[in-house]
Amino acid sequence: MLMTSQYDRLAAMNKAHVWHPFTQMKDYCNGDPLIIERGDGIMLYDLHGRGYYDGFSSVWLNVHGHNVPELNAAITEQLGKVAHSTLLGMANVPAIELAENLVRIAPKGLTKVFYSDSGATGVEIAIKMAFQYWHNRGIRGKSSFVTMNHAYHGDTIGAVSVGAIPLYHEKFRPMLFSPHIIPYPNAYRHPGGADGAAEATLAALRSLLETRGNEIAALIVEPIVQGASGIIVMPPGCLRAIADLCREHGVLLIADEVATGFGRTGAMFACELEGVSPDLLVAGKGLTGGYLPLAATLATDEVYQAFYADYEEQKTFFHGHSFTGNPLGCAVALASLQLLEDRGIVQSVNGKAAFAARRLEALVDLPHVGDIRQQGLMVGIELVRDKITREPYDWTERVGVLVCQRARELGMLTRPLGNVIVFIPPLVSTTAELEAMLHILASAIRDVTESGWRPER
Ligand code: PLP
Repeated sequence: MLMTSQYDRLAAMNKAHVWHPFTQMKDYCNGDPLIIERGDGIMLYDLHGRGYYDGFSSVWLNVHGHNVPELNAAITEQLGKVAHSTLLGMANVPAIELAENLVRIAPKGLTKVFYSDSGATGVEIAIKMAFQYWHNRGIRGKSSFVTMNHAYHGDTIGAVSVGAIPLYHEKFRPMLFSPHIIPYPNAYRHPGGADGAAEATLAALRSLLETRGNEIAALIVEPIVQGASGIIVMPPGCLRAIADLCREHGVLLIADEVATGFGRTGAMFACELEGVSPDLLVAGKGLTGGYLPLAATLATDEVYQAFYADYEEQKTFFHGHSFTGNPLGCAVALASLQLLEDRGIVQSVNGKAAFAARRLEALVDLPHVGDIRQQGLMVGIELVRDKITREPYDWTERVGVLVCQRARELGMLTRPLGNVIVFIPPLVSTTAELEAMLHILASAIRDVTESGWRPER
């Protein structure tokens, strides 16, 4: 039984010493912080013992739920052997086995695995590899990058450079390299709908590659679903066309599958949905089932061969991290992949997604639900002030934040992306759990947008 003083003590220390990511600390310090103590299945429990559905998979990464015996055992077993040894010039058992497994499940042609510890570092690696690939081949001038409007690839400087969300990225622009930015096809916000949006994207890319293709090292894309911009789903065929244009113009394709990988979109990797094999693929988040910080950048043999040379040629990829290939992370990733396979989890996603889609239909007619976007178990619900004109709520109204606060009060955790409510449940969620979570989501949206619910002060 919790002594009230334990919560008070931790809450005070939290406010005194912890600086939370993507959080205005002045707001945060004025509230009662949620302090999670344990997890079980798709539930998280706070210090008071109150349970919450993990409706956003602890920031889009949980696959099998929390406190999973098989994943716990994999870590404990590895811990009994070695917690960490470096991958700089030497190997460890789980890092080798995981690399072989990743290559087996990855899109065709990706045969080499370079480890790191977060999505952002995985993206840095892909960017640097693409840049050095052309350099090592002796082709000068292919040094710039293409990204998409509203892209998010993580928070390190290279990843921020290829980011294009004004609120997050613009203030850092003076310290970043400048990519070419083409529009991301946002069907809801484009006057021509899905077709018009796709055409605009492809026309911009075609024209850029025709005029400046010989200066461009790579294009980076969040395949099929652009996540942090508001769960925006690409019109069908668009990713395939982007990949074809890159190939035609000798530009490498980097698929950032940090959010979309490991079954989230209904396929093991989103690229598979359109038969795309990128030159570089970044995986993170769900790689360890959401247990430990591990990421992987996969490369084709063609990319790898540009670095494979006599030492004197100085073509080595001089990049690495202290925890590259951490054995605990690799061991739990192996166990997670095994569970995905044994339990047919990826194959189950489309059925669950169809169930969620049927329940989401009930929200379509709500007066402030503008758009519902879904790919697999990635859902974004865009709230608007005016459904007819699609006028957004002003950001100062914090409608997304309010809906998530109400959802938390009703027993489900999620975080908004501006006016978009995110629903990204763990892949193992049962239909009963999906039903319960979607019920909370609908109630929270109604309470805030129709009944004027506001938190008690
Ligand atoms: N790339 C994409 C598409 C993401 O959605 C994210 C995080 O949400 C990242 C990269 C960054 O990953 P991390 O937070 O592990 O650095």
